[in-house]
Amino acid sequence: MRIGIPREIKRKEFRVALTPAGALELTSSGHQVTVETAAGEGSGFSDDDYRAASAHIAPTAEDVWSDAELLLKVKEPIPQEYPLLREELVVFTYLHIAADEPLTRALLESGTTAIAYETVQLPDGRLPLLAPMSEVAGRLAPQMGATSLEKARGGRGILLGGVPGVPPAKVVILGGGIVGYNAALIASGMRAHVLVLDQSVDRIRALETMLDGRAQLAMSSRLEIEHAISDADMVIGAVLVPGALAPKLVTREILASMKPGAVLVDVAIDQGGCFETSRPTTHDDPVYEVDGIVHYCVANMPGAVPVTSTRALTNATFPYIELIAREGIEAAIDRLAPLAAGVNVARGVITHQAVADAHGLPF
Ligand code: NAD
Repeated sequence: MRIGIPREIKRKEFRVALTPAGALELTSSGHQVTVETAAGEGSGFSDDDYRAASAHIAPTAEDVWSDAELLLKVKEPIPQEYPLLREELVVFTYLHIAADEPLTRALLESGTTAIAYETVQLPDGRLPLLAPMSEVAGRLAPQMGATSLEKARGGRGILLGGVPGVPPAKVVILGGGIVGYNAALIASGMRAHVLVLDQSVDRIRALETMLDGRAQLAMSSRLEIEHAISDADMVIGAVLVPGALAPKLVTREILASMKPGAVLVDVAIDQGGCFETSRPTTHDDPVYEVDGIVHYCVANMPGAVPVTSTRALTNATFPYIELIAREGIEAAIDRLAPLAAGVNVARGVITHQAVADAHGLPF
C-alpha cells in the first residue's frame, strides 16, 4: 500500500504520525512510505532517519497527499488541507469532527474515508488511541505543577519532595483513571504526599494494587474533596465522565479555603475543566491566578513533549496501521470491530452514530 505522512501544519503541533521505526516495519513488508520533508523534525527525526528506513522524502504536502492510499496524520485536516481530500483516500488521524462542521462537510463532499483515533474503541469501552496521550498528560501534570509552585512563578514556594526534616508538599488528585494514576505515580516518585480521590470503588480497588502504598486513596465526595483541598499544595483535576462535560468539583467558594499560592493543574480542561475558575490556556502562556491560586489549564499538554508523545502515539496506532496496510481498508474494518468504530465518514456518508447525532444528519 502507498502510505503518506505529511508535516503537521496546525500551529504549535510538533508531533508526526509515523516514526522511522514504524516506517521501516512497513517498507520491510513491501509497502511504500512517503514522508514530507521535515515532517519529523519537531519530534527529533530527520529526513535521513526516514531515508534509512527506506521511506521516500517528498518536497511538498501535495506530493504526499496526491500519491497516498492511506494518509497518516496527528491532527485533523485544517482548511488549507481540505482541497487535498479526495475519493479513494483513507485518512487516519485525531479528527474530532463532532464539533467541526466545515471539516465534516469537506470530508463528505470529497468522498474521503476518515478514521478517527479518538473513536477507535475496544469491546470493554476503552479508547486505546487516546490512552497514550492521557499517560503523557498525567505524567506531565506533577512536573508542570511543581514548576508553578515555585515562588518566582507565583506559587507557594514549596518543594514537592521536601527535604530530610521538612515535610513534602501535599498533592490531591481528583479522578484516578489513566491521567490520575500516572500523575500519582510521578508525584509520589518526586516524594510528594499524594491522595487520589475517585468515585468508583472498583477503580480504587485497582489503584490500591497498582500504586502499592505510594498514595493514599479515598472515595470522592463533596465533603472529602473540600477537606482534602483546603490542605493541598497542588490539586490535579483528572476526572472524566464519558461523553459529558467535566463536573465542576471545585467551586470558586472552595478556592477561598485553599492556601495562597497553591496550584491547580486542570488536565480535564479539554472537557471544560473540573474547577469552576478554569479556562483553557496555552503552552506560551500556561498559568493565571484567581484569588491567589495559580491555575495551569493547558488543553493540549502532550504538545509540550513531542519527542515522547510521538512515540507514545505511534506505539498505539501502529498495529492498526499495519493491519490496514496488509489487508486493505475494507477487510481490516471487517476483521477488527475496534477499527470499524473509528470510521467516522466513508465515501460521502457519516458512519458514526455520535457524529451523525452531533450534526443532525442521517446515520
Ligand atoms: P479515565 O476515564 O481513564 O479516568 C477518569 C476517572 O475519573 C475515572 O476513574 C472516573 O471514575 C473518575 N471520575 C469521574 N467523575 C468523578 C468524580 N466526580 N470524582 C472523582 N472521580 C471521578 O480518563 P483519563 O484518560 O484519565 O482522562 C481524564 C481527563 O483528562 C479527560 O477529561 C481527558 O480528556 C483529559 N485529558 C487532557 C489532556 C490535556 O492535554 N489537557 C490530555 C489527555 C487527557
